Amino acid sequence: MTFYQFDNYSITLDKKGVNIYTKASYPIRYGQYSEIKTKEFVYHFNQNGEIRFIQGRGNGWPNPVEWLKRTLGNDWIYYSAGGYAGVFECMGEYYVPCLPYGNTSLLDAKPFKNKMIENAIEIWPRVVSSIACLLDGETHIDLSHYISNVIKNDSARLQQKAQLFHRLIGGQISVLPPDTRHVDYDVIPVIIADGCLYNCGFCRVKSGNRFESRSKEDILNQIRQLKGFLGRDIINYNAVFLGQHDALNAPAELINFAAQNAYDIFELKLSNMKGANLFLFGSVKSFLDKEPSFFQDLNRLPYKTYINIGVESADPATLKYLKKPIELKDIIHTFERMMAINHHFENIEITLNFVIGEMLPENHVPSILSLIRDRLDRPYPKGSVYLSPLYDYEKKRYLRDILHRIKIQSKLPVFFYLIQRL
Ligand code: SF4
Repeated sequence: MTFYQFDNYSITLDKKGVNIYTKASYPIRYGQYSEIKTKEFVYHFNQNGEIRFIQGRGNGWPNPVEWLKRTLGNDWIYYSAGGYAGVFECMGEYYVPCLPYGNTSLLDAKPFKNKMIENAIEIWPRVVSSIACLLDGETHIDLSHYISNVIKNDSARLQQKAQLFHRLIGGQISVLPPDTRHVDYDVIPVIIADGCLYNCGFCRVKSGNRFESRSKEDILNQIRQLKGFLGRDIINYNAVFLGQHDALNAPAELINFAAQNAYDIFELKLSNMKGANLFLFGSVKSFLDKEPSFFQDLNRLPYKTYINIGVESADPATLKYLKKPIELKDIIHTFERMMAINHHFENIEITLNFVIGEMLPENHVPSILSLIRDRLDRPYPKGSVYLSPLYDYEKKRYLRDILHRIKIQSKLPVFFYLIQRL
């Protein structure tokens, strides 16, 4: 780490953050990064000199423990401390990610309408350029070199890089699994299959295409090209998302192939972050179709694996309303298999996703409780249940009330799930 102090700003190169993902009520930075601190803002840049975080310091910033984060897809996300009690209970984290797209905020505050936040996203390239002008290139050779690299990665270039990123994987990630919150959504996505089995009527993230696995050659190409794309910053990643909406329906051998090659080629063993994590979505059918040997093999991989299954409801009338073609007996079987797998395999956690919304039939909420309360003899810490608001985000009070109603009766952990893209 090298520290430079100037009159109105300071710069720290190769600063070391925390090396294990942690749940904390204050801002944490992970891995290795560089920092520019001015009177108004703290800027963090990754190992490629690309901006990742902005945190306001002056008056006008809504809260000193809140920050902006830029994703690989070049979206700015505002991390809010919440404005109501019980953020951790609702989200499983001490912050609420506020997204600049869609109508998915559970908070009344609208951070992207705040002038200082808007300004922070717009002016950071000018702030860095003005610092570069003040530097004496001969005295600070390393620093000048670093700053000129940051300047190259201006807003236009970062947008081009995001487009390249999506081209490399052959599409945008329309939704990340809720479990990726455990790694602050910092996953490297590798698409092993497109489309899904059900193409449910209610779903707004589906591609509408029928399910199709990618070839091994395509998967290897993605992994190799992503490695080049992430450059020096790959050292800060320890998590892989196998996309898209039902990667679990891909053949067991292909899932294994993708997971193992990603681990080896991305060199996750050398990551600045401890451990390695694998995330994927599954459907009721793909989950029930998998042989026991699949889970035994998965458990032996050098990852902690999270599989999120979208069941949405355990009420036939609600499933019909949602146009989701699955049967109650399969949902019950899925629930029982989830509990068994979570119990037997240390490195696997199966989680479930349900929708919530005021317009859903009256037996919907009782049907969720019939599984996560009535079918269990005691509380279990493993096997999170995520509740995803359907359409009516404006009814924030109703959504919070439903979450609390389900949560206090559930014997499994229950959290909100916000649709986040990459
Ligand atoms: S809910 Fe899941 S299975 Fe249904 S259409 Fe959406 S992505 Fe596909």
